[in-house]
Amino acid sequence: MIILVINCGSSSIKYQLLDMKNEEVYDLMAKGLVEKIGLPDSSLTHKPTGKTPVTISAAIPDHKVGMKLVMDALIDPEHGVLKSFEDIEAVGHRVVQGADFFSGSALVNDDVIKKIEICSDFAPLHNPSNLLGIHAVSQVLPKVPQVVVFDTAFHQTMLPYAYMYALPWEYYEKYRIRRYGAHGTSHEYVSRRGAKLAGLDIENSKIITCHLGNGSSITAIKDGKCVDTTMGFTPLEGMIMGTRCGNIDASIVPYIMKKENLTPDQMTEIMNKKSGFLGLSGKSSDLRDMNAAALEGDKRAKIVLKKLTYDTIKNVGGFVAELNGVDLIVFTAGIGENNARLRRRICENLSYLGVKLDEEANVNASGGGETIISAPDSSIKVAMIPTNEELAIARDTMRLVCETED
Ligand code: ADP
Repeated sequence: MIILVINCGSSSIKYQLLDMKNEEVYDLMAKGLVEKIGLPDSSLTHKPTGKTPVTISAAIPDHKVGMKLVMDALIDPEHGVLKSFEDIEAVGHRVVQGADFFSGSALVNDDVIKKIEICSDFAPLHNPSNLLGIHAVSQVLPKVPQVVVFDTAFHQTMLPYAYMYALPWEYYEKYRIRRYGAHGTSHEYVSRRGAKLAGLDIENSKIITCHLGNGSSITAIKDGKCVDTTMGFTPLEGMIMGTRCGNIDASIVPYIMKKENLTPDQMTEIMNKKSGFLGLSGKSSDLRDMNAAALEGDKRAKIVLKKLTYDTIKNVGGFVAELNGVDLIVFTAGIGENNARLRRRICENLSYLGVKLDEEANVNASGGGETIISAPDSSIKVAMIPTNEELAIARDTMRLVCETED
């Protein structure tokens, strides 16, 4: 079954075209990444299997334009891999927020779309991008079944003390105000891959997964189930991110709104799109730009780098306490997979627990495949696992489409 998997992030569209023979066996036909959407140097990198990769630099102001570029690349006579769109049998989408409407993946229909729209309130950076992807596919492939895989589903095992805010109970009942988390597909995938690599029995394990990308979250996982995560009601909660502020004192929100005469939507936009690395540095939401600026002595970029490290250490440390120990720490996503320095800094601060890094393995791991980066005599294993939300989504898509056909 040829499945196109679309992962619309806040500033990126990742896609993979997979020929799924079964749950375990598949051929990757093509993959690619639309990067830096909304930034001046946006581009599409398309990697067709067995053909030369191509990078197309183009103005990509939004996800709709990005999706169009992806579709064109797939059937391009030179670097395409399909004769026509009709070869695609199903499409799977990552959707960030399903709230308590969805405890698992779902086939797209009008009702599902309506519920994803309702959930956009909770995920203003992501659900609208996810919906753009679904609508763009509906236009090009109207007869192809589409499946949505929710990033919140894995976090549904959190207990009330972890998911409830200490606000009046009525807001939970009236407005579904509680913590839902995000990046669940990634946390689940890398925890399972990491456990396998480290030789752990997932059913009897304590794992902390650090998904550090443009959006970042950290999750505590006991016996394969999420017990806590840093993101909350929306993907705004938690640590510093590319354009999101993460945790701040809630009183700051009405204070700034009054001082600056801002509407709730304007304030939401500031916290989601104009804060984080971008807001603090005043320069960029991309960590590579922060590294370059810090090297040139930019003080604010240096604070961004320090704060990212500090937020990660604080959350990992908190989860070690919550889990009463940890067997494995996993780093993943754009920053977690590529930033050896950050991984080293986190591990240095866990040396009191007996974490020992294999320096060489850590440096060599960046940009590579699944690697154990802790030393053999480390009391806690540490791994870099490239996330593969696309494979996890393709598996769910195939399962749901096949169930419907039966
Ligand atoms: P998202 O999917 O949430 O848009 P990603 O997981 O792609 O985000 O992560 C984007 C972040 O990863 C950016 O801050 C970027 O700077 C960083 N990143 C990506 N590749 C590299 C690299 N090779 N070296 C350092 N940082 C990188």
